[in-house]
Amino acid sequence: MRIEYDIKLGFKDVMIRPKRSTLKSRSQVSLKRKFTFKHANTTWEGIPIIAANMDTVGTFEMALALAEKGLITAVHKHYSITDWNVFSSHAPEGIENHIAISTGTSANDAEKLASIVSFNPHFKFICIDVANGYSEHFVDFVKHTRTKYPDKVIIAGNVVTGEMVEELLLAGADIVKVGIGPGSVCTTRVKTGVGYPQLSAIIECADAAHGLGGQIISDGGCTIPGDIAKAFGAGADFVMLGGMFAGHQESGGELIERDGKHYKQFYGMSSATAMDKHVGGVAEYRASEGKTVEVAYKGSVETTLKDILGGLRSTCTYVGAAKLKELTKRTTFIRVAEQENRIYTN
Ligand code: 5GP
Repeated sequence: MRIEYDIKLGFKDVMIRPKRSTLKSRSQVSLKRKFTFKHANTTWEGIPIIAANMDTVGTFEMALALAEKGLITAVHKHYSITDWNVFSSHAPEGIENHIAISTGTSANDAEKLASIVSFNPHFKFICIDVANGYSEHFVDFVKHTRTKYPDKVIIAGNVVTGEMVEELLLAGADIVKVGIGPGSVCTTRVKTGVGYPQLSAIIECADAAHGLGGQIISDGGCTIPGDIAKAFGAGADFVMLGGMFAGHQESGGELIERDGKHYKQFYGMSSATAMDKHVGGVAEYRASEGKTVEVAYKGSVETTLKDILGGLRSTCTYVGAAKLKELTKRTTFIRVAEQENRIYTN
């Protein structure tokens, strides 16, 4: 047994210190980023925020709404091949740059991925997603996928430490997804005791990835626009959101009406609800590692998006970053023992 005594930080442990700036207005800030990927022979330009590949978030409807604004949706892996074909036959031009096809690592997943890609050869991203990216089987799957799809931008995760980021990038991933346990409907830390504070995970993993010419996605734990700014400030190239995109018209999950109020169901992909729905229940040898909740219905995602992007532009003006790309080098975090004043927050 060993103990690491360095303190590791989460979003709630820091704030971003304001800096002198020559920017006059938020409208001068560009949130677009352009990336060239390590393995796939391609570039991408857009706003580097991604809707999570959960069936309550990463829907085709969400993809259409977010693509219009230049964001990406990691479309969940539970759509059928027919659903994909219907979607792509009606999807607007350019959508291919804003969609990641999600897959697990079983033989069935690989086969389904091959069918989706063969019908939709222009979709740019593949997201290979497992709860625990530390297994040898996962690394082998990434290698195999890279060989099979040399031109696709491959996202692989989740991990939280630099050495595993390096291993996945060397195995063929372009982008590594970072986060174990911070998610809003995740109970991994409760059920297993395993995890890593997200801000420190981003700082350490971004350093490892950038050293090898790769990128990272910070996945999970953002609950307010300020957290997204902190994730970018810490070095994340992309930020993935689950809970913040849940509960909208474009989200999945059942719409519930109670006492004249509307809610939408939202659940973790390892929750009993998701396992009942997709694999006929929680297997005897495992525990669910996700919650099921109801979130107040928020209407169109466009309103939430304005709030997020407006917040992010404002962060950039506070530190004098004319482009999102400059945010990390303009960020000084201060460790804090308080966040916002919650007197009127219930
Ligand atoms: P959020 O933005 O809601 O805080 O986090 C979203 C992320 O939580 C997802 O992208 C995924 O990585 C993670 N996640 C989703 N469902 C589950 C689950 O059932 N269990 C765990 N441990 N993590 C989950």
